[in-house]
Amino acid sequence: MTEGATRVVAIDGPAGTGKSSVSKLLADKVGASYLDTGAMYRAVTLAVLDAGVALDDPAGIARVVDAVDIELIPNGEGSSTVLLGGRDVSGPIRTDHVTSAVSAVSAVPEVRTKLVALQRQNAQGRFVVVEGRDIGTVVFPTADVKIFLTATPEARADRRHKQNLAAGRDSDYAAVLESVNRRDHLDSTRTVSPLRAADDAVVVDTSDKTLMEVLDELSGLVEARIGASEL
Ligand code: C5P
Repeated sequence: MTEGATRVVAIDGPAGTGKSSVSKLLADKVGASYLDTGAMYRAVTLAVLDAGVALDDPAGIARVVDAVDIELIPNGEGSSTVLLGGRDVSGPIRTDHVTSAVSAVSAVPEVRTKLVALQRQNAQGRFVVVEGRDIGTVVFPTADVKIFLTATPEARADRRHKQNLAAGRDSDYAAVLESVNRRDHLDSTRTVSPLRAADDAVVVDTSDKTLMEVLDELSGLVEARIGASEL
């Protein structure tokens, strides 16, 4: 990898398409860092909830985001420790409470402006796999590789349901399906940076593919676009 060059692999798509799992493995396989932008939106959401600000108060949310300090520190296991004002919130940002509030918070323009700047700063001069909803369309419109993962709502809900059970959390398939559909609807219909595939993104349907099949397909794309000799 050329020293100092910024190289971005943008991975977008709705919840439950296997984005996080494959992005981490892909970063490891091609020797890139991994940036989870959803974790940043989740951290701001936690700050909003902790501050007792209502989700229908965009001005209040904008004040919270203005004051927050978010850092993602690589934890050496392919993912990151998320610090909110120096406090490790990696666990609390994954609770249902945060998950059901995050779409409302991430639709506030001031939230996006601050986090997009942080994401660009984080990638500066690095080779990075960036995972999110608007990476190929807004954050890095000139990314070297753009991938948009899709899967049927049922396949996505089934994955989330199994992940919950494996993690020892209570889970009801119908409720998970409802939550997946609700979040996608909010994320794709918001005015600022809605979830959509960039015109030049490669769309990969993961419904009937294993994680390893998706990983092979994606690493093939990265090698073809960036060039195996540069990796
Ligand atoms: O990827 P994850 O499910 O953790 O993302 C949580 C939420 O953060 C998404 O549902 C979306 O509302 C928001 N998000 C976003 N833009 C991104 C990444 C996440 O709006 N780039």
